[in-house]
Amino acid sequence: MIKVGLGVDIHAFEEGRPCILGGVRIPHPRGLKGHSDADVITHAIMDALLGAAGERDIGHLFPNTDDRWKDADSVRMLEIVRETLEKKKAAIHNVDATVIAQEPKLAPHLPAMLDRLARALKIPADRIAIKATTAEWMGFAGRKEGIVALAVACVEIP
Ligand code: MG
Repeated sequence: MIKVGLGVDIHAFEEGRPCILGGVRIPHPRGLKGHSDADVITHAIMDALLGAAGERDIGHLFPNTDDRWKDADSVRMLEIVRETLEKKKAAIHNVDATVIAQEPKLAPHLPAMLDRLARALKIPADRIAIKATTAEWMGFAGRKEGIVALAVACVEIP
């Protein structure tokens, strides 16, 4: 059976935090606020994969009350999601994500993101797409208060 899943995540900017997006540390004056490293792209992808596999969301899998995930590398969490899918013999067909952010500029970092996420998911990088758009200066993303990420995943389950 072919199944698709949708993931959406939002994090606010916070001073004094590293900016980690798609598993890559991006040189930027502010990072994102969250219990883990707040990697909004990786979080949206995890929820898309979990949704496609009929699993509960990342808040259930990685509670923000659990110290194990404090400042955690979200790509490590993504590997756990991949293992959850492997247990169901679910094969990841492709993942497509869009980031809505007024800043930072993501284009120069996309190849590194695709490489790191592909290795975590054990799929070729050409099965992952990440696109970036601004919010045209509107709303919280446009005011540079935070970042939104959306992802869909297509999974084949026996
Ligand atoms: Mg999140």
